[in-house]
Amino acid sequence: MEHALQAEITLSAAPADPAALERLIPTVAEESLKRSIGTRGTGKLAHVGLTGDRLRLTLESDGPRPHQALLALIRRLSEELGRAQKVGVRSFSAPSYRVRFDLEGDLKHPLTLPLPHTLHVEGRVGTLELRDLPEEGLRDNWMDRAVTLVQEKVRRQNYEGKEQYWDLLTQSPRREMTFELDPTEGMIARQWIRSGPTKGKWFLGPTAAHLMRTMERIARTEVLEPLGFTEVVQPHHDSFDILLKTGHLEGLPGEFYYVTEPRTRDPAAWETFTDLVKITRKVPEGELAKLVSPPSAVSCYAQCPTIYWWLSGRTIAEESLPLRVFDRSAVSNRYESGGRHGLERVDEFHRIEPVYVGTPAQLLELRTKLLERYAHVFDTILELEWRTAWVTPFYMQQSGGVGVEDAQARVKGTIDFEAYLPYRGTRENSEWLEFQNLSIVGDKYTKAFTIRPQKGELWSGCSGIGLERWLTAFLAQKGLDPDGWPAKFREHAGPLPRDIRFL
Ligand code: ATP
Ligand code: ZN
Ligand code: MG
Repeated sequence: MEHALQAEITLSAAPADPAALERLIPTVAEESLKRSIGTRGTGKLAHVGLTGDRLRLTLESDGPRPHQALLALIRRLSEELGRAQKVGVRSFSAPSYRVRFDLEGDLKHPLTLPLPHTLHVEGRVGTLELRDLPEEGLRDNWMDRAVTLVQEKVRRQNYEGKEQYWDLLTQSPRREMTFELDPTEGMIARQWIRSGPTKGKWFLGPTAAHLMRTMERIARTEVLEPLGFTEVVQPHHDSFDILLKTGHLEGLPGEFYYVTEPRTRDPAAWETFTDLVKITRKVPEGELAKLVSPPSAVSCYAQCPTIYWWLSGRTIAEESLPLRVFDRSAVSNRYESGGRHGLERVDEFHRIEPVYVGTPAQLLELRTKLLERYAHVFDTILELEWRTAWVTPFYMQQSGGVGVEDAQARVKGTIDFEAYLPYRGTRENSEWLEFQNLSIVGDKYTKAFTIRPQKGELWSGCSGIGLERWLTAFLAQKGLDPDGWPAKFREHAGPLPRDIRFL
């Protein structure tokens, strides 16, 4: 058979009447297999053996995997044994659980899994054996998730590098560039910004701050407010629970700044630490490590996860759809490591994140309107040379449960907005800067956070407006001299603060 589950059940005591137990098992097993597998496949009890308080049995099946049947069997067994022989089930585990499943591609190179296992692949069929699977793993579906993980890893091996993730959608008119330097260098030279005291951060002096806030105001007054978005203010720390639901925790663990808490605020507990600081004038790292807890949250990575949390478990009234909100208070923190560059790739940046929830039709209409308003800003206020591209990889569209029709219609997925940066080289050969994006994610998050409509289907999406990126794109094309800036932008900016003179 396709699947085989060897289980070991520890009873609270050796049964007084082992023969009665051995007679009971086949009936209970048959009932449980019938109930959990039904007409979707077949199942059988392949082996049973009792030694003292240890019951070993093997369930085999075709079609559905047999661990649900095992759980049902154990439930029934406890009831019957308890009643007849005053014996209970103390614990159980699976010394071996082997299943067979299909793969979408060939295994290109060996895979790892963080559980004791053996994986055999022949053509497009995988056989995975998990060993020593604990009770929790049986109750909590680890096998199904391990199989999905293997399938996903194989899919990635097959699509990665091959699939084009970038497809041009729109392209603005070509514009004459009046500047060809790196604007970050220019801003440093004018003392507008200073590289921050910790990794990948910048201190924006009055002029740079004024320009970034101008960008923020343009986004709010020219895009979001006209389309009915209203502001929310969210907390800055994202709980692990939230990131487990969105998938960020499995997707990006190496990009978070983690938050730890003091184990106590009792000054007595911190005395050695403070004394060492007073004497050595250094951070006593070993002592500090003892006094803080393991991370319990992350510093905001993106704003939408916590906005979904805010809506979780709620039913949104028809009249409030499409729901349109934005946050501009949580500052994004990301560990960019080797990728850091200038003001455009930093570890701490400022984003406005609009989030929208509504019926599929409402979101499609809203996306069209957002695209129009964004185009108005980039074409007539900032006068940028920019383009948009569809960037959702095919394998992601698939694993998100998007049908082929959707993939072609490009409904669910992400549009990137990119600007040409003259300092990086020619239009054709240089990398353009992604300065914002816009996504529709279907029902992924409304499902994960149980956000309901009064009727029909509820989708969501978000757009990440990166203010440092808007500013960099603008200054890279227009330069730092206000005389070279488009009139409409100058109107929005108003008079600049006077530069502070440093001697
Ligand atoms: P990239 O591919 O450039 O790393 P991303 O896909 O990680 O960007 P998103 O998570 O989609 O970015 O965030 C949306 C927006 O946030 C981006 O379009 C950009 O404007 C901004 N952003 C992301 N990372 C940074 C960063 N390190 N520094 C400044 N802005 C950023
Ligand atoms: Zn988002
Ligand atoms: Mg990134």
